[in-house]
Amino acid sequence: MSDFRFKKKYGQNFLIDKNIVNKIVSTIDVSSKSLVIEIGCGDGKLTEVLGSHFNNVLGYEIDTELKDKLNSNLKNYSNVNIIFDDFLRRDIKNDLKKYDYDGLYIVSNLPYYITTPIIEKIINSNLDIKLIRIMVQKEVGERFCAKVGTKEYGSITVYLNYNYKIVKDFIVSKNSFYPKPNVDSMIVSFYPKEKIFVKNQEFFYKLVRDSFKYKRKTLRNNLKGYDLEKIEMVLKRYGFDLSVRAERLDVNIFCEISNELSI
Ligand code: SAH
Repeated sequence: MSDFRFKKKYGQNFLIDKNIVNKIVSTIDVSSKSLVIEIGCGDGKLTEVLGSHFNNVLGYEIDTELKDKLNSNLKNYSNVNIIFDDFLRRDIKNDLKKYDYDGLYIVSNLPYYITTPIIEKIINSNLDIKLIRIMVQKEVGERFCAKVGTKEYGSITVYLNYNYKIVKDFIVSKNSFYPKPNVDSMIVSFYPKEKIFVKNQEFFYKLVRDSFKYKRKTLRNNLKGYDLEKIEMVLKRYGFDLSVRAERLDVNIFCEISNELSI
């Protein structure tokens, strides 16, 4: 990689510790005919190991300057296909049409500057995914699996925990990357789960975002435009009132409020 100029704007911090790469991948149970999606292949360290573990790998990489490097690093893996494009602009369902698979996985060391948009895109794609295992900035990972009532608990926690069972796997030191980033990282896994019934998902997501809009404000203040009487009715069932802050409420309660308010 000596002649390669790393691009900060693409969040390029490549994993250099092969043990970490193996630790990420080796514990994944794969089905026969497995397909894994990787977002941001970089120079292909993780891609290569995915190539030996899964039947097929579909990678995305925005930086075309990595093309030669990636193709040569992966030349022995005919089961790896890389699309050189912005993942956020792809029609994933369409990209998957070429494949005959029966277990879909996502494993990726994400470009951190678009962590949330990538996750939202994955969730909105409504694909049946067996496991999402991603590397994120440590602080961000802490928010994903935060316990109710802690300062890390926020709308993203509720949003993700509504959709998945989130498990913190392990911390990865910033020394495991080149160029070395300023922050440590974390591997987190998202497992599919039976979702709590929600009448109107869009409304539920908006309610959650609005509830956390100003972190220090009470629900009464953050949810001014909503039917506060109905909200209070639900809160009372859990021993709360409108002076509560959103960080005290678990996913269940948000679902119940949402169902109470939506038709
Ligand atoms: N997986 C590699 C690289 C991780 S760095 C490793 O673990 O070493 C993140 C990678 O995502 C970079 O290669 C960057 O070019 C790529 N990337 C950034 N934005 C992207 C986007 N919108 N779509 C696809 N890839 C992107």
